[in-house]
Amino acid sequence: MGTWDYSIFWKETLNQFKNELSEQEFTMWFNMDYETSGESSIILSVPSGFYRDQVKQRYQARIETKLFELSGQHIFVDFEVKTRKKEESQGQNEPARKESPEAGNPKVLNPNPQHVEVHAKEREPHSLLRKDYTFNNFIIGENNSFAANAAIAIAKNPGTAYNPCLIYGGVGLGKTHLMQAIGNMAWQEKGIKIIYITAENFTNEFVESIKNGKTQDFKNKYRNSDMLLIDDIHFLQKKIETQEELFHTFNALYDANKQIIFTCDRPVSELKNLSERLRSRFERGLNVDLQPPSYETRCAILAKKTEARGINIPPEVLNLVAKNISSNVRDLEASLTKLIAYAELTKRPVTLEIAQQQLRDSFGAPKQNNVTIETIQKVVAEYFSLSYTDLKGKKRTKAVSFPRQLAMYIAREITEYSTTELGMEFGGRDHTTVMHGCQKIEERLKAEPSLETTIQKLNKLIKDYNS
Ligand code: ADP
Ligand code: MG
Repeated sequence: MGTWDYSIFWKETLNQFKNELSEQEFTMWFNMDYETSGESSIILSVPSGFYRDQVKQRYQARIETKLFELSGQHIFVDFEVKTRKKEESQGQNEPARKESPEAGNPKVLNPNPQHVEVHAKEREPHSLLRKDYTFNNFIIGENNSFAANAAIAIAKNPGTAYNPCLIYGGVGLGKTHLMQAIGNMAWQEKGIKIIYITAENFTNEFVESIKNGKTQDFKNKYRNSDMLLIDDIHFLQKKIETQEELFHTFNALYDANKQIIFTCDRPVSELKNLSERLRSRFERGLNVDLQPPSYETRCAILAKKTEARGINIPPEVLNLVAKNISSNVRDLEASLTKLIAYAELTKRPVTLEIAQQQLRDSFGAPKQNNVTIETIQKVVAEYFSLSYTDLKGKKRTKAVSFPRQLAMYIAREITEYSTTELGMEFGGRDHTTVMHGCQKIEERLKAEPSLETTIQKLNKLIKDYNS
């Protein structure tokens, strides 16, 4: 296939580390030799397994960040253990370290030299952030490139250009990953005070602080951060007092030019039971969305993830998974994990047949909260003495359209599906149809309180459906 040679970027990476680290640290850990390049990776050889594990943990992310900065593309690093003997260093693969970077090494492309910051010391991983949620581990496709580029810009210049920023999109599309990648990069590069918290925990902490008479501590903690990341703000719907508190936290941080980032499972305009002034704060700044990945991007994600786990799964199997699981990245990963577990437990290669058989369930309807859309549709259809196919189908008579809207409304309330995903589950309808349906039910709820009882009954039936 193609030939790749990223050795020039590796050389410059080494060059930079040499300048940034103490001589002792550099000599101790950068005992790695460039071996070869793949499509988006380089392979470095190291002298032992222990060494490899240490280097991975200490430097892999930083090396990949540099390679990204230097080359403008994601180049991943793989380590290969190679016991070095004299006679091995021959041919083109000369150990990179020995040809110590020539002074100046002029041709190296560094698109943004001012971005390459000097790290005197490596920072410990941030205790509130997942180490693996980095930009390097985030595959950029057409579905997320705008959001990802905005995210990188924010990580590099927090509090300036895009403040606040709201990342929204359906479940499992990478909101949390991207948000934490911003935190991880800002932490590594700037060491600023970063708080990551889910809206749910923010709420719980706030309630707890009221109970314990410690609200001032709570306020101080959040208002003193340099970067506040609040995940899943749709959880704040109906939480009036927490909304109020967040509103004031927002203003304090915003006025001090501190970066604020939110994620939400839908556009802010679709949030219900939210104070108007908080809504207007969320809408200020930059709102970016994550879309489901295309087939090509899904393939790229699967390829990267299998590689990262060091497992060999044939491409036709990965293509099968990518073809069948289109809703989100989390489901893709779950399928992959299942196949890897199978391969490891049975010590057999994963064939197409085995993949098909193992993933039969996932290839059907995806499950959320243990409640599937199918269950909701069946229960609602039965309740109104309709057939399941009619409920999902195209008919638009009153007898079916009301139950259908009700099913959409309930699905919106109790699952994490986005309106787009729900539209697909309801006979390939557009997401605006789902929004419209839910709105109709909301209007009726205001006029007709007895409908609430019906919904409660249905919810109970849905809950009990599988038990
Ligand atoms: P969300 O917060 O939107 O529900 P997450 O950020 O939790 O989704 O992502 C779900 C899983 O999918 C995580 O393991 C995450 O690392 C992975 N993931 C999502 N998007 C990508 C991507 N573009 N590249 C690589 N992994 C991704
Ligand atoms: Mg999330």
